[in-house]
Amino acid sequence: MKKPYILIVEDEAAIAELIAINLRHSGFECEIASDSAEAQSMVFERVPDLVLLDWMLPSMSGFSLAKQWRSQTETKLLPIIMLTAKAEEADKVASLDAGMDDYITKPFSTKELLARVRALLRRRAPSVLVSGSLLTVGVISMDSASHRVMAEDKEVKLAPTEFKLLTALLQQGDKVLKRETLQNMVWGHYNDIDERTVDVHIKRLREALTAVSAVAAAQVETIRGMGYRLSKSAL
Ligand code: CA
Repeated sequence: MKKPYILIVEDEAAIAELIAINLRHSGFECEIASDSAEAQSMVFERVPDLVLLDWMLPSMSGFSLAKQWRSQTETKLLPIIMLTAKAEEADKVASLDAGMDDYITKPFSTKELLARVRALLRRRAPSVLVSGSLLTVGVISMDSASHRVMAEDKEVKLAPTEFKLLTALLQQGDKVLKRETLQNMVWGHYNDIDERTVDVHIKRLREALTAVSAVAAAQVETIRGMGYRLSKSAL
């Protein structure tokens, strides 16, 4: 399994180094950018699996940079944890509203930082932790490296959200996934989407599967009052 690649954007060299040492020690690969411009070019050179972004940076703030990333297609879903000395409620709300996945208030413990990094990577696991593997349940299989989904040996075309939904369901094997869990896995922990949005995308997923294989579509089961499950067989 490849090491998750984390970009640290922090202008205080001592803090950046300390974080980098700890992340490397815990099995992550990481690079440091000391301002927004450098971070911007590094991200487009190689998209990180997660960004630790300091709020206070010289010239363009980490907050503005994150907002910019959220507005661009390539970086829209970049997992971002804000590092901030601002402990005020309003700033926390602002950073979550602007689409950050999480934030940590300075000074923070390395242990907490690592725990939050791991938690966010788990939530965003579809693109990170199963990379290169083939997931199969019933007649549906997904090659996460090539992003190809097959049902009865025919390719299924999925939009990004449906792809993530299916990844979450496949990873769960044939166990039931609660609607709320699914929501966190696909839209991130601090999403403000309606639970019905999950149902809408499940419907789209079923439609996309139906276009190729009715058997595959029937594998997506609704478990009343709980959530969804990908059954091993549609029979
Ligand atoms: Ca700073």
